[in-house]
Amino acid sequence: MRLSRYFLPVLKETPSEAQIVSHRYMLRAGMIKQSAAGIYSWLPLGFKVLKKIEGIVHEEQMRAGHIPVLMPTMQSADLWRESGRYDAYGEEMLRITDRHERDLLFTPTAEELITDIFRSHVSSYKDLPLTMYQIQWKFRDEIRPRFGVMRGREFYMKDGYNFDLTKEDALHAYNRHLVSYLRTYERMGLQAIPMRADSGPIGGDDTHEFLVLADTGESEVFYDSAVTDIRLGQRNIDYDDHDQCRAVMEEFTALYARTDETHDATLFDQIPAERQRSARGIEVGQIFYFGTKYSEPMGATVQGPDGKSIPVHMGSHGIGVSRLVGAIIEASHDDKGIIWPEGVTPFHCGIVNLKQGDEEADAACDKIYAALTAVGLDPLYDDRKERAGGKFATMDLIGLPWRITVGPRGLKNGVVELTSRRTGESVELPPEDAVKRIA
Ligand code: ATP
Ligand code: MG
Ligand code: MG
Ligand code: MG
Repeated sequence: MRLSRYFLPVLKETPSEAQIVSHRYMLRAGMIKQSAAGIYSWLPLGFKVLKKIEGIVHEEQMRAGHIPVLMPTMQSADLWRESGRYDAYGEEMLRITDRHERDLLFTPTAEELITDIFRSHVSSYKDLPLTMYQIQWKFRDEIRPRFGVMRGREFYMKDGYNFDLTKEDALHAYNRHLVSYLRTYERMGLQAIPMRADSGPIGGDDTHEFLVLADTGESEVFYDSAVTDIRLGQRNIDYDDHDQCRAVMEEFTALYARTDETHDATLFDQIPAERQRSARGIEVGQIFYFGTKYSEPMGATVQGPDGKSIPVHMGSHGIGVSRLVGAIIEASHDDKGIIWPEGVTPFHCGIVNLKQGDEEADAACDKIYAALTAVGLDPLYDDRKERAGGKFATMDLIGLPWRITVGPRGLKNGVVELTSRRTGESVELPPEDAVKRIA
């Protein structure tokens, strides 16, 4: 993309309404624009990052054997009356009446709707196990929307639902989700720690939240510092292997790590003092096992091997896709701007032309652009007639992992400058080698 043809409405001033760094940088980098409290338009740069994150979530869900679907944002209240949650959910649910006076709502989550789909089409244990998920907009009328996309009212969420014959199978689904979530966050350059949590209005006994440690997080967390040393890494995972998934779950949840809702001071005090940590965290996902909480009242049953009708065991599993954009920035930035991890960066590399209009510099930039594109990379070429300082500031703000700087002086010696956004280190090398380094 050539910057002269792009839409990147960068702000010079720091917007006063933004209290935390991710919100400030998202506004300044022209990623989002608020349209109403907690409701945002995603401008081109923000939209690209959102789609990258969504892509990783899809890939990892499908790798785990989960099937994508899409359910509507607007739902009839009737299903929610069946489960008893229409009244129980409270004021976070946005309720709407249509022209025929029928009660609708904007989905805050979708246990009821997916259970209705399941009970309409599945009747035998032979069709289990089954896990379906969607990535879809949700609405919760948060009392205090704030911090930009971190606590929006409209937000983008992955929500998945497993249907299993037995509790044991459903717990495997739980473990499978836990493992797939670890992979998902690691691919985004994040460490998200599974912590034992409270189930809230979803219900159920078993639940873990995934938290990214950050001072600006809204959750208070307590943990054994040794949990931060564990990584999933490049392990080969067989998602059908119950024992392997359970072992990973146990490895990641054996050490003490809890949110304030389930914090137990007595247990915490048993951790060696030098490893006791209390901190803030951002909730980027949560998994639940809730058994037959929805299948029983809604009649989601299957015929078991012995012909008897059995309510299915279920769980639901969420990832805050739009919140992750903010969470990644909270975890990866400096005082000049964002530092995107490679996996989610909106463009792989910036090209800065120090002397736009100079025949040689323009030609060299075009060539680098074509070479990067040819190897499947997505460069952003700042081809505007602007001061170099302004171009560098924009590149630093939007945080692309690499910058190639091209100017007449370097070209005379056959070199361009390649700069890493994360380390700030620069090297001079021939343009072909710069491209090779990145690819
Ligand atoms: P929170 O405790 O932050 O209110 P939650 O526990 O109510 O979140 P869940 O029902 O677990 O949220 O939804 C799954 C995920 O969706 C959360 O882990 C979070 O990452 C994301 N999420 C929830 N509410 C919002 C929101 N208002 N804005 C952006 N993302 C959200
Ligand atoms: Mg909430
Ligand atoms: Mg929560
Ligand atoms: Mg939650």
